[in-house]
Amino acid sequence: MKTDIKVPAIGDFANVPVVEVSVAVGDIIAVDDTVVMLESDKATLDIPSPVAGRVTAIHIAVGDRVSEGSAILEVEAEAGSTDERNEAARESGAQSSRAPLTTPSVHAAPGLPDADAEADLVVIGAGPGGYTAAFRAADLGLKVTLVERDPNLGGVCLNVGCIPSKALLHAAKVIDEAAAMSGHGIAYPKPEIDIDRLRAWKSDVVGKLTGGLTGLARRRKVKILRGSAVFEGGNLVRVSHAGDEKTIAFKQAIIACGSEPVRLPFLPDDDRIIDSTGALELADIPKRMLVLGGGIIGLEMAQVYHALGARITIVELLDQIIPGADRDIVVPLMKRIEQRYEKVRLNTKVTRVQSEKAGLRVTFEGPDGTREELFDKILSAVGRRPNGRLIGAEKAGISVDEGGFIRVDRQMRTSRENIFAIGDVVGQPMLAHKATHEGKVAAEVAAGHKSAFDARAIPSVAYTEPEVGWVGLTESDAKTKGIAYKKASFPWAASGRALAMAGSDGVSKLLFDPDSGRVLGAGICGPNAGELLAEVALAIEMGADAEDLSLTIHPHPTLSETIGLAAEIFEGTITDL
Ligand SMILES: Cc1cc2nc3c(=O)[nH]c(=O)nc-3n(C[C@H](O)[C@H](O)[C@H](O)COP(=O)(O)OP(=O)(O)OC[C@H]3O[C@@H](n4cnc5c(N)ncnc54)[C@H](O)[C@@H]3O)c2cc1C
Repeated sequence: MKTDIKVPAIGDFANVPVVEVSVAVGDIIAVDDTVVMLESDKATLDIPSPVAGRVTAIHIAVGDRVSEGSAILEVEAEAGSTDERNEAARESGAQSSRAPLTTPSVHAAPGLPDADAEADLVVIGAGPGGYTAAFRAADLGLKVTLVERDPNLGGVCLNVGCIPSKALLHAAKVIDEAAAMSGHGIAYPKPEIDIDRLRAWKSDVVGKLTGGLTGLARRRKVKILRGSAVFEGGNLVRVSHAGDEKTIAFKQAIIACGSEPVRLPFLPDDDRIIDSTGALELADIPKRMLVLGGGIIGLEMAQVYHALGARITIVELLDQIIPGADRDIVVPLMKRIEQRYEKVRLNTKVTRVQSEKAGLRVTFEGPDGTREELFDKILSAVGRRPNGRLIGAEKAGISVDEGGFIRVDRQMRTSRENIFAIGDVVGQPMLAHKATHEGKVAAEVAAGHKSAFDARAIPSVAYTEPEVGWVGLTESDAKTKGIAYKKASFPWAASGRALAMAGSDGVSKLLFDPDSGRVLGAGICGPNAGELLAEVALAIEMGADAEDLSLTIHPHPTLSETIGLAAEIFEGTITDL
């Protein structure tokens, strides 16, 4: 049966130019294979095939303009079930970017072991580190295979980390801000929460990004291979998926296998105990939830669940939340959550959790002695563990430390010269922007460029309300390491913009070299602190000093002025205080 494939609904776009026709007459395609790419001035759109079969006619060419309903091509369905046809398409290798798992052995290039396939570069893991490395290496001319065990590209960040959490935090912020306006003359009724639609919206945001990666890989001819990779030697990996195995001989490899949540050994096996991935699934909203760990991930998820109606307790072993940040930067957030949540327990250890029908009975040991409480759900957010011990690194002669981290040099090389490692698996901070930066370095070095990871500072942000962010030197690090510094803090109570957006408890603190005035670091607390941090990161990279910041004209009224004003405090030129 022949099917005409037409341009589906593409939002507000119309008359969009075709930039790539990804198939030819005679190709066998699978459901969801991209057949055409469109590019407007706002976005690139991959048009997937809704059916599997053989392409029998193509109605458009590069440069044509199309809108919803325009005919693209004709496909004749092949005999067999959809799954069989998809499999046939994959095995033909014709148009699918996923390489088949059962190709015949190829003759090895000189120096490479015999294997089912060969690549200049194999990248293990398609998180932000891995896909960035794969795309950069392909752009530099290498033949790249990207191996990913999960069905979707994007790793933790896109699927169960940065992006879904930010979508839900946006929803929480809208709820909280709407409620706060009741004190200023605008009262909304209590929000009605349709958790299924909220979850679907979050998944839609994720789907747009992960789907886009497939198009980006295809455009660069990066082969995507689904499966779990383990090393079989210094030039060979074995990839397993659903009972199939395939070996790939490589000249170079990049390990980007990321990390997974730490699970505390004393926690019972109980569905009511979830990690960040479980929390982002948003199965339900418990009445009373304990968040184990006062770090960034725990606090972000606490904010989401609180806005959706849960009563929250946070428990943290140390004496402050977000232990990596300076205490004074965290104070405004701490004050707000102490008002909002049932309890924030610092210096407190959870020593026991028992599953009971009525809930999870938790034993705390803290400053007020030992006590027990019952919760409906526990979110365990006590950190992440690198996946370095799960990839057979020893067979490739790569050293992995006790904790599972892989040691690398400034060029991201492991102890084996042709194998690189990047992202969460090479160390703290476990952040997506660090992974992507390292991915680019590794890819460039693999392609023969003289690149190195020489960033002076890596920003960290908790996207809570208010946000807490820091970059470069912190005051506590300066004190521990005996580094001389001079501090200038601008209180947001003196910022017109902060007052106008309920952020007057914020603060922008800059640390300077006392002699040269160079910017050494910053800590910011308040709405959009993460965005403001970028200016200071640039200042640190450029070796800018207080004068550079204070003489830069910042737009008024914006929160960015607080950076310039903090520099004016150091310079002694401030007139706003
Ligand atoms: C809830 C949450 C929120 C977060 N929010 C932020 C944020 O706002 N900003 C930020 O910068 N960071 C955030 N992070 C951290 C960020 O997600 C990670 O630092 C980042 O994803 C690390 O990237 P990566 O490429 O090193 O590894 P990952 O993203 O972990 O990707 C590794 C990939 O490798 C695959 N893999 C592993 N082993 C194998 C194997 N043997 N074979 C094949 N594939 C394999 C995995 O399936 C995975 O897809 C958050 C994390 C969480 C959990």
